[in-house]
Formats: sequence, structure tokens, C-alpha cells
Amino acid sequence: MSEAFIPPAKPILGEEERAAVDRVLLSGMIAQGPEVAAFESEFAEQVTQGRTCVAVNSGTSGLHLGLLAAGIGPGDEVIVPSFTFAATANAVALTGATPVFADIEPDHFCLAADAVRAAVTDRTTAIMPVHLYGHPADMDALGAVAAEHGLRVFEDAAQAHLATWQGRAVGTFGDFAMFSLYPTKNMTSGEGGMVSVANDDLARQVRLLRNQGMERQYANEVVGFNARMTDLHAAIGRVQLSKVRAWTTTRQRNAAYFDEHLEGVTVPPVAAPATHVYHQYTIRVDGAERDRIVSALREEHQVGTGVYYPIPNHRLASLAKFAPGLDLPQTEVAAREVISLPVHPSLSEGELERIVTAVNATVRAGA
Ligand SMILES: *Cc1c(COP(=O)(O)O)cnc(C)c1O
Repeated sequence: MSEAFIPPAKPILGEEERAAVDRVLLSGMIAQGPEVAAFESEFAEQVTQGRTCVAVNSGTSGLHLGLLAAGIGPGDEVIVPSFTFAATANAVALTGATPVFADIEPDHFCLAADAVRAAVTDRTTAIMPVHLYGHPADMDALGAVAAEHGLRVFEDAAQAHLATWQGRAVGTFGDFAMFSLYPTKNMTSGEGGMVSVANDDLARQVRLLRNQGMERQYANEVVGFNARMTDLHAAIGRVQLSKVRAWTTTRQRNAAYFDEHLEGVTVPPVAAPATHVYHQYTIRVDGAERDRIVSALREEHQVGTGVYYPIPNHRLASLAKFAPGLDLPQTEVAAREVISLPVHPSLSEGELERIVTAVNATVRAGA
């Protein structure tokens, strides 16, 4: 076959992004400045229902600074899912706190409230659910566990711009939340992260940590980083922000098409209180067939897919020391069965049809 390869993800970057970067370049001022400030307030208005936002140089920095600003450090245990990108637990570990891994609920791949309850110890101070693939975690059940045990809630919303739970935007539930702006996420600034915060004190702490502990130049108040976003990146992010709502609608339409036409696989269910923004459209297949299906889709049908994530965090060489002997059955099954199909907004109708035909034929061939 000679059809063009369909990539699993594809950032949409065009004339408007180029013009925005040009505008900043021509100004001669490219470090953090007015573009970053405008991006923060526009993001707050359009994504976090007015909650204050602070821009940083990556999503990982956002998690790290948010945790430090919230006072998380050595002696604290923070409960996180293992079925996520390693940045979630890395950020906890980098503060000196201990990431404690808990299992997921199988339908939506997000942290399970019962598993969190079972993992609480007298050192637990916080939980950090991940709105994985763009589906919100169950913030009612998780909020209830947090309230029972007096735990703080932080959100890894890296993949979930504009997702909602009970009509409320993700990123407005926790003391802080982080949105990633990496190129494959639902919107990008090149690299970058946005931290939404629940109060002015956290906002000030994140801003201090972002800039060597300075609010006023050379009056360093705390030990901090250089985690600033540049105006070049913010200019790209502002253009993307103006488009992400329409892109999300297209992702949801693509997902509805797959829901209707895919056969022989488990399509991703959406919880009744949730709006899914389909950062990934993730199906489950027979775990023994998964690798064959992935390679047949690529080799025979030129359809790129992703496996997020093949190795759970608690078994990674870097993080296993935090989880000796831990068994997370739902996490293990998901890691064997998931395949994410291309769902990005630049897919044509013909490509959507090709993906469906390819998956249905490939799965049937193994039956
Ligand atoms: C992308 C991602 C991050 C890290 O964001 P970066 O911008 O790449 O640093 C953290 N958590 C999850 C779940 C992610 O998908």
C-alpha cells in the first residue's frame, strides 16, 4: 500500500503562530514579559474559570514548583497513579517527598478512590490525580477521600485542557493544577506549562520559585529556579489558546465516529459527570494481540498509534525504589492492553475512515 502515514499526533502550527513569534522578535524583548502576562490572564479566563494562572517553562516544572509552593517535601507521602507519564511521580520525588502509587479504575484509567483510601498512611499529606488521556478523574470520590483524611489535592491536568467534571473545569479542584503545553498536547507553546492556583499565596510562591526567589530584582526571598516562560513561547501559546476550543470539538467528533464504527475492541467509556477532551483516544485490545495489532497498523495500513504507557511508573528503574513489592492489578492490565489511535483535529474524513477500516480488519485477522 502507498497511502500516506497517519501520525499518532500532529501539532497544528501556521501563519498566525509565525506572525506572533515575528511580532515578539521585532520588539527586541524576548524573555518573560507582556506576552507571558497576557497568556496567563487569557488562559485563566478561557480554561480555569478565572482561577489565577502562572506560566512556566514546562509542565514538569509546573508540577515541581506547585508542590514546593504548597510546602510538600521530605517526610510527606503523596499518592499518585502509576499509570501515567513519569513526570507525575518525578515531580513528587524531586521535592524530597515520597510518591506512593495507587491503582486506577479500569473504565477511565484514572486514580481509583478506593485504592487511594487503602494507600493512606499517617504520613500522607496529599493526592495528585491525573486526568489521563483528557478524561477527568472522579473528583467527587477523590475529594471525599481527601476530606476524610485531611489531604490536599493537586491535579495533573497535563492532558486535559477544557475537560470538565460536573460542569466544573479541571484545574479548579485542587490547591494547584498543571497544564502541559508540550507540542503533542491539545495545545502548545513549544515547551511550557501553566499552573492554576487556588489562592494568592500559592500564586506568589510559584512566581517566586519560577524566578530565583525574586519578586523585586536582587531581593531574593527564597531559593528558586529559572523556570520562566519566554515571550516567544507565550506568543505561540496565545494563538493556540484561541483555537483549542474548536480543536477540542473536532477531537470529540472524531472520537464519536470511532465509538460508532470500531468493532471488536473496547472503546473508551465516558463517565456521566465528565466531558472528555480526547488528548488520546485509547482502546483496549487482547493483551496477547496488542503488539501484533500495533505493528500491523503501522506496517500494513500506515496508521501510527501510541502505547501510553507500556511500563507502569512503579516498575521503572528510576521509581521502583518507592514501591518495593507493590502489585497494582488494574494498572498492569491496562499497560498490556491499551492502544491510542490518532484522534487529532487535523485528521481528514478519509483518514478517519482509513483508521476504522484498518483497526477493524487487523483485530478481525487475529480472531
Ligand atoms: C506531558 C505530561 C507531563 C509533563 O509535561 P511536560 O510539559 O512535558 O513537562 C506531566 N504529566 C502528564 C500526565 C503528561 O502527559
